[in-house]
Amino acid sequence: MSLSRSSLLGDLDVEVSLDAQIGASTWFGIGGRADILACPRTESALIELAVRCRDQGVPVRVLGGGANLLVDDGGVDGVVVQLNNEHFKTIRYTANGDITSARVGAGVNLFDLVQETKRRGLHGFEMMAGIPGTAGGGVRMNAGGAWGQLSDCLKTVSMVALDGTHHVFDAESLGFRYRGSDLPHGIITECTVSLQEDDPIKVSDRVKEIFQHKKSTQPMADHSAGCAFKNPVDPSTGRQMSAGALIDKAGLKGRSIGGATVSDQHANFIVTNTGASATDIRRLIDEVRDEVLSRMGVTLEPEVVIWKRSDQA
Ligand SMILES: Cc1cc2nc3c(=O)[nH]c(=O)nc-3n(C[C@H](O)[C@H](O)[C@H](O)COP(=O)(O)OP(=O)(O)OC[C@H]3O[C@@H](n4cnc5c(N)ncnc54)[C@H](O)[C@@H]3O)c2cc1C
Repeated sequence: MSLSRSSLLGDLDVEVSLDAQIGASTWFGIGGRADILACPRTESALIELAVRCRDQGVPVRVLGGGANLLVDDGGVDGVVVQLNNEHFKTIRYTANGDITSARVGAGVNLFDLVQETKRRGLHGFEMMAGIPGTAGGGVRMNAGGAWGQLSDCLKTVSMVALDGTHHVFDAESLGFRYRGSDLPHGIITECTVSLQEDDPIKVSDRVKEIFQHKKSTQPMADHSAGCAFKNPVDPSTGRQMSAGALIDKAGLKGRSIGGATVSDQHANFIVTNTGASATDIRRLIDEVRDEVLSRMGVTLEPEVVIWKRSDQA
């Protein structure tokens, strides 16, 4: 694989950083660098970037807000694309009776979108209160919780596939489920959500209630990536079990490796202390998974996305 900035991206309308410190900008606040971080300024530059990477066999990863991501200490190869240019941060509202459709750029911050829809008195996005990241990452993860998930209000997803083709998918066709979907690989550029006009005070009260609940149950002031593991399904009942409760019952609250610790407040959060490395977090994830399996007989699957160099993946 030949990788030179000039041959790959030099002439494109893309802001390029070499040896970019992406780990430090994730919510864990630690981890390695990206050989190339590319922030396209237009959709056509993004499409050309995807085509060139495909033609030259260069791996492409997409970084949203880094709220569900662990970057290995050795960093990542290829191109990391981030849609943080203003071009990918617009929200366009169209009202039709009491239903408002919002076209949301993939780079829009979820906190901002919750605030903006609250201010406009639009109901249907309150469940995202307290969930950090971008709209693109939220769609990819189908982020959510006890109050609902992003797919509940999602109508369409626009994506540039890794061969540079552009697609608009009907959300209903994408098989959205708990923290997953059948969405193909690619770079989500926009989504449309459908919201309902409501009393702004009611919307605000719901946002406040959800946020307060999260603040009282999650270590929000610490560095983490939210829940480390997905909630598993009990094979005998088909019902979802709480990964946090299983980790707690296995006696793992407070367990530490290096600077990574299983939170005392919420057992499914791994938090970092000064001096933590991505390797500490990876080792702790492995240890928690192994001990929950041996003590509770349940296999946990990480929810945190872990990036490594291609030859180490
Ligand atoms: C304090 C805290 C609380 C949290 N609470 C919750 C919660 O209640 N519920 C919940 O579901 N999650 C929660 N999370 C996790 C996180 O907020 C969500 O997973 C969020 O959707 C991640 O979005 P992001 O933009 O930061 O994605 P990133 O972390 O940057 O990336 C996550 C994945 O999405 C992919 N991705 C990102 N952007 C795009 C794009 N434009 N196109 C294609 N793929 C993309 C990445 O490649 C990666 O695979 C929490 C995290 C923290 C730190």
